[in-house]
Amino acid sequence: MLNQFPLSSEQIDQITRKHPTPFHLYDEKLIRKNAQKFYKAFSWMPGFKNYFAVKALPNPFILKILKEEGMGADCSSLSELILAQKAGITEENIMFTSNDTPAEEFVEASNLGAIVNLDDISHIEFLENCAGFPELISFRYNPGPLKEGNVIIGNPEEAKYGLTREQIFEAYRISKEKGAKRFGLHTMVASNELNEDYHIETARMLFELVVELKERLGLKIEFVDLGGGYGIPYRPGQKEIDLDAVSAGIKAEYDRLIVANDLHPLKIVMENGRMITGPYGWLVTKVRHIKMIYRDYAGVDASMANLMRPGMYGSYHHITVLGKEDRVCDHKYDVTGCLCENNDKFAVERMLPELEIGDILIIHSTGAHGHAMGFNYNGQLRSAELLLRENGSLLEIRRAETLDDYFATLDFEKLEKEQF
Ligand SMILES: *Cc1c(COP(=O)(O)O)cnc(C)c1O
Repeated sequence: MLNQFPLSSEQIDQITRKHPTPFHLYDEKLIRKNAQKFYKAFSWMPGFKNYFAVKALPNPFILKILKEEGMGADCSSLSELILAQKAGITEENIMFTSNDTPAEEFVEASNLGAIVNLDDISHIEFLENCAGFPELISFRYNPGPLKEGNVIIGNPEEAKYGLTREQIFEAYRISKEKGAKRFGLHTMVASNELNEDYHIETARMLFELVVELKERLGLKIEFVDLGGGYGIPYRPGQKEIDLDAVSAGIKAEYDRLIVANDLHPLKIVMENGRMITGPYGWLVTKVRHIKMIYRDYAGVDASMANLMRPGMYGSYHHITVLGKEDRVCDHKYDVTGCLCENNDKFAVERMLPELEIGDILIIHSTGAHGHAMGFNYNGQLRSAELLLRENGSLLEIRRAETLDDYFATLDFEKLEKEQF
């Protein structure tokens, strides 16, 4: 089931006087409720923590809310490390899961006391040379042909991430030699996966590796990081992932592999992004033009600059028309942005109520990998982000970009004068 948009036509009328469309709106109450449900489902896990994947919704206001609900931050770049800091997330509450990492980012992660999760065996030496080798180290495992992939993330065998199975053993052996005393093991093999068994199997795969690391190297793994990738329903009628079933399935594997092999307690953590905020964000946009050629087009004031997923992956995002929720969907439209790119479409041949210029369209489930993926192609400016507080008030948590922002790196007159 999809979440209902939390505001009425009248409220949006009021809001758009001060905050013109398009904008993303996030619902604090629902985000908190979901976070609590998430933690409750996995409460049996020793030391359970979700390191929220910052890239999904990189805004310190959101990170602060999630921190209050017990989450850490999963960062992959310098900017994301800074975002975590701004939200007051510190030390081992930060997981640094990067790839193709520049030295200065390892230095920063190391200065912050973050958990460094290495993407390659060659990064052991790279890290040692730039930041010194830490006492706590984690590695990202890529199971290759041993695990099937899914649509968004692709086949592990073709993925650029992580260490192979053989390299994993070698990596821990070398780390021990270099003085590491605490060890983590990570994988991330799925994206937007709704199948519970897939996530249970991922846990089993890591538990088996924990057992084997103990047997072959005498190594005690302190935590496994099951990654993110828990799916959300983007279509009405699609079922939510059953967290209790995932949890029970993982618990059975934990008892069978970890407890039975005397490896309890093993900390279990995750790095979900989408599941945490995705369903609780909406892109609010206004119909600017209706165009009727070979198909009917509703041109809106948002574009791929505000939400890339449909254009980039052909992803489905549900669309409703504010105030027309109860009307029959008997008109077929392509809902488009203004980019000179024919994939700048939020929906293709979508049945909607008859649209008029000025209608407010609500594009659902944009709370993760939405605003964050925005770009400035065609000179488009990224929108504002608004937060609906628990008390019903509205907070602007990011202003819309202006032309000055666009030209901030392009002071043409100044550059020309200096260089010619
Ligand atoms: C993208 C990513 C995540 C979060 O993925 P979701 O699908 O948003 O849960 C977690 N960990 C890593 C390493 C990632 O790249």
